[in-house]
Amino acid sequence: MDVSRAKNRINELILLLNKYSRLYYTDDISAISDFEYDTLYSELKNLEELYPQLCRNDSPTQRVGDAVSESFSEHVHKNRLYSLDNTYSYEELENWYNKICKEFEKDDIELVAELKIDGLAISLLYNDSKLEVGATRGNGSVGENITSNIRAINAIPLSLSDSKVSVDVRGEVYMPHSSFEKLNDEARALGQKLFANPRNAAAGTLRQLDSKIVAKRGLAMFAYAAIFENDINAPKTHFETLKRLSELGLVTNPNTRLCKNVGEVIAFCKEFEEKRFELNYATDGVVVKVNDYSIQNALGFTAKSPKWATAFKFPPEEMSTKLLDIEIGIGKTGAITPVAILEPVNLAGSVVKRASLHNYDEIKRLGVKLGDTVRVKKAAEIIPKVVAVEVEKRDGSEKDIVVPTLCPVCQAKLEVPEGEVNLYCTNNEFCEAQNEAKIQFFVSKPAMNIDGVGSQLIKTLLETGLINDAADLYSLTKDDLLKLEGFQDKSATNVINSINNSKHPKFSAFLTALNIKHVGKETAELIVENFDTLEKLKIASDKDLAQIDGLGEKVAQAITQWFADERNLKLLLKFENSGVVPQIVEKTVLSNVFVDKSFVITGTLTKPRSEFEQIIKSHGGKTSSSVSKKTSYVLAGDSPGSKLLKAQSLGVKILDEDAFFALLEGRQFDEK
Ligand code: NAD
Repeated sequence: MDVSRAKNRINELILLLNKYSRLYYTDDISAISDFEYDTLYSELKNLEELYPQLCRNDSPTQRVGDAVSESFSEHVHKNRLYSLDNTYSYEELENWYNKICKEFEKDDIELVAELKIDGLAISLLYNDSKLEVGATRGNGSVGENITSNIRAINAIPLSLSDSKVSVDVRGEVYMPHSSFEKLNDEARALGQKLFANPRNAAAGTLRQLDSKIVAKRGLAMFAYAAIFENDINAPKTHFETLKRLSELGLVTNPNTRLCKNVGEVIAFCKEFEEKRFELNYATDGVVVKVNDYSIQNALGFTAKSPKWATAFKFPPEEMSTKLLDIEIGIGKTGAITPVAILEPVNLAGSVVKRASLHNYDEIKRLGVKLGDTVRVKKAAEIIPKVVAVEVEKRDGSEKDIVVPTLCPVCQAKLEVPEGEVNLYCTNNEFCEAQNEAKIQFFVSKPAMNIDGVGSQLIKTLLETGLINDAADLYSLTKDDLLKLEGFQDKSATNVINSINNSKHPKFSAFLTALNIKHVGKETAELIVENFDTLEKLKIASDKDLAQIDGLGEKVAQAITQWFADERNLKLLLKFENSGVVPQIVEKTVLSNVFVDKSFVITGTLTKPRSEFEQIIKSHGGKTSSSVSKKTSYVLAGDSPGSKLLKAQSLGVKILDEDAFFALLEGRQFDEK
């Protein structure tokens, strides 16, 4: 590229990137994905390196980008805050490391790998252990003084455990997924605009003028660096600093590792490329820092970032692609789900061709049209979802998406039941699509867990008339299967065996498999704890069922209605005649310590949640998924969700793990 073309492209890129940054930092809008932003940014950086004479002062490569709102007073940072260089490639990460090793003539240099939290950078000034100022990063030198909002965040201590310490702490304020979902659920219910992602929500919340709102929204923070004032015992390495911060009472991220070399860092990155989807917070990469401060100091900073650190960014979990078509999915309850058919796109390591659009309300909210460029995101769910439309990319050829009025399979009327947003096919009895979905669910893992009976086989069995409902599976013979294409003696025997092996399911699994509206695996387990046989459940009234803690009236009604329907009773009889007999699981009761006590668990504990549930139940207690006045205790681990706030507002007792075991063992403990 010649100089004049390079100059034009640089000007174009600066214009574009500055526009996107303004939207991102001032209005909390991501007009393009981070990956696309970073690709444009890296093109600009490369051009500026090739033509240093063309590098402009207002280039985004020369400054830290956050805007400073006039609603808050300015805070001049005692120590500058920086951004980070980033890369999406392991090769570039290795190059960065090898260059440093070469400069210091060492084979290996210790690094710290820690998750890059997708939130907002803040500075916390503690003077003689007391929190004096909390401020945003701003342009790195001047930020917004948001002390009152910072004080409203539970995870940030107002004083540190060492009364003499004065320290400038760096941390990332973020919104846990649980708080984010709750916030958007509330906004949806009130018909308000939704936050696009947890980062936007955290940014919007931190800039609220009313700190009571901040307190309600469940923000959290991880501290990741500190500058100790006049402290001769100040840590000499980054890893020691993290340890010290934690000792002082600040929350540091447990997903941090001291690595001997870049190979160990890459192993950490690969591990968290997968694990990130299980975390209760968003992370977009791994920050890699030189551990030894003497090396950090010798390396110093560029205009924008430390030379001793870089960020490895995970393959994007969000990408742009074209919406080609909408396919209508019909679920086991008749719920209609529009599925986006996409131009294939590589997302977080796999090719994505379909994404969920949830329902037609969501299509309306997104304002999406056929032919639009949409942003698709992979989150904890297996099926990716469409999260935004890039309206700027429209060329006028896009077409409105028409809300269907008839079921595409059985042509029955579609309706939105009162109080719901989903469209439903009203032909519960005869819709073939619903019937197929019901049988597919019946054999699935959370239900009867029948191996070898997949969706294709169910389709064929229905088409050939060998089955009409789930109970017919138990009348199938090996000869029936051998008549079907692809079956041989062994495969047919295997399928029949696995169907027969499912004849004595756990009662809760059988109940789940029955497809009663609102009764999933967890609800079924809750019901079984209170009604341990099918006979007892059949005669239970709405009132009896609604007394189960954690089970609302709507669910209670759905259950009694299901058992009042003749067709369902006939189906139950058919199961019974085929020898399908649910088993009652004997409860192992170790003690009665928790009798009449109900627990809600929130946050991350040192053991899987199911183990705590087991302990509670085996000592006579009950567990529930939502906090109410009836809840006896909330067991709260790290990064607790909105349940903790609800418990606090209702005055429900809160236990940490130590207090939980103290209660179990009858020891004294401090109540919160
Ligand atoms: P950055 O967010 O990529 O990295 C720097 C920040 O990482 C630090 O300021 C700190 O807040 C944070 N961080 C999180 N965990 C950390 C840890 N453990 N240790 C150290 N720091 C940690 O850089 P930036 O300058 O804040 O923002 C630039 C990025 O923002 C771009 O790379 C792009 O991805 C995104 N962006 C997107 C758009 C868009 O339109 N989509 C526009 C502008 C910027």
